[in-house]
Amino acid sequence: MDLHQKQTWDEYDRGDFLSQKLSAVQKLIPKEVETILDAGCGNGVITNALQNDYDIVGLDISEAALQHVTAPKMRGSITQLPFDDEHFHLCMCHEVLEHLSLQDQDQAIKELKRCASKYIMISVPYKEKLQQHYAKCANCDCEFHVYGHLQSYDQNKLNAMLGPEYRMVETQIMGPQQMRNPAWLTQIKQRYLGQWFHPDFHLTCPRCGADNFVHKSNFLTKITNALSWIISSRESYWLLALYLKG
Ligand SMILES: [Zn+2]
Repeated sequence: MDLHQKQTWDEYDRGDFLSQKLSAVQKLIPKEVETILDAGCGNGVITNALQNDYDIVGLDISEAALQHVTAPKMRGSITQLPFDDEHFHLCMCHEVLEHLSLQDQDQAIKELKRCASKYIMISVPYKEKLQQHYAKCANCDCEFHVYGHLQSYDQNKLNAMLGPEYRMVETQIMGPQQMRNPAWLTQIKQRYLGQWFHPDFHLTCPRCGADNFVHKSNFLTKITNALSWIISSRESYWLLALYLKG
């Protein structure tokens, strides 16, 4: 998933999947909030929907993504927010942190804290098993996460990232249920059976640019799929959390 590519954002529409998220975000915004920063707003699926009710700014590093934002917008990085201290009542960032290196992630949290006068809202994939979403390029053997995720989160990790000066007001684990395979099963599927994640969207290898990926299907893979179905746990997709300063 190339966040700078026009095609990524023209095709980025997960319909119902996102409307569920949007309504949870809307309900979670405290009544007193008037000004909002949506840092890493992507194509503005949340920013655009909130623009009539709030004084909101969408910020993203991708010019291609910002083309879809109809609300006030600005190009910039979440690691270096172009705003004064405590400029917004609420700084939020949805499905951004998991794309960042640890260093950038810490810097992003620092910046959100700096620009928020009161609240921070964060959503990330919940307890994602990163390896499960790895594809393998059929051309150069590069193994990579198909959505570019580098981190996985639970409530404790988010709380620790926000630190003692922020109190968690509410967390929700929400969204569609996903199968989570045990790590050993993912290992067997990928290493021994060539059963890597097979994207159902346009994807190119980050190393060589090819667009064909290793994905074997045979009697053995059918058996491991059945096994996955039986033994895997199911978890909701997102972790959504609201924090209050002080
Ligand atoms: Zn490749």
